[in-house]
Amino acid sequence: METTEQRQWENFFAEFVNTPHAKLQDPQIRESLLVKISQLIDLPYRMQMIKRDIGEDGEEEGDKERWKEWLKDMERGRAEITLEPFHRHAVEVIKGLLAGYEKHIAVVEVVGKLAPNRRLKETILPPQEDLPHSVLAGDYRLPVYAKFLHVLRRHPFPFGRRERKGCGKFFVQPVRGKPRRYCSTACRLQSSPAVARHTAYVQELRQKRRKTEIAITRAILRQWSDQKEYLRELGKQFSQKSRRQLLNLVKQAKGAVKTKRKETA
Ligand SMILES: [Zn+2]
Repeated sequence: METTEQRQWENFFAEFVNTPHAKLQDPQIRESLLVKISQLIDLPYRMQMIKRDIGEDGEEEGDKERWKEWLKDMERGRAEITLEPFHRHAVEVIKGLLAGYEKHIAVVEVVGKLAPNRRLKETILPPQEDLPHSVLAGDYRLPVYAKFLHVLRRHPFPFGRRERKGCGKFFVQPVRGKPRRYCSTACRLQSSPAVARHTAYVQELRQKRRKTEIAITRAILRQWSDQKEYLRELGKQFSQKSRRQLLNLVKQAKGAVKTKRKETA
């Protein structure tokens, strides 16, 4: 069962990776992302103890507030230095996984406990900064990566990506049912048969025009065999074409003559 909290994190990560790297500098976007990242950061063990003990031993109300402010600053500062590298990481991982590559996802510790049924119960935890018995202590960013891993482990895989040119957006896949193929309704319409028909129509027009151009070129080639002469004549007919385009047209017209001959033979 997927919880609302999980769902919110999936939506957050999808939005996060859809944010272009340069947009992380936008004050408003940055602020909202920092708030989220701060929620994921674990403070060093000793700071967590302070957080837990705030308000005990009949502390002054003013002191309590000062401690809270200080802890918030600590979280905030850590979120600041985490944002850019984590963004790069998340984009690369989701993009890579969807493209079929193997990716390094996160650093975690597996904590085991033997259950009464003689089964090993494992819990995956981020290594905690400053925690004396942690194998990989020392990186406050790891809880962020661990949360990301937790989200990625969902069955079926929680993200999809629209490969269409001009889109490339990531989206959250439904927990049940057919996987989505488009990022939005607008995107689906862009790939719809009506749009495809329109594209085919434009292509057809272009081909018709090309056919006419080639016919004119062939007529000119029959009249003038000298390159200088037929290029001059072609220049009059197709004033907006460059020399290279004209030469290309000649090449196609000559090719068309050859294939025509082959057909009639
Ligand atoms: Zn799209």
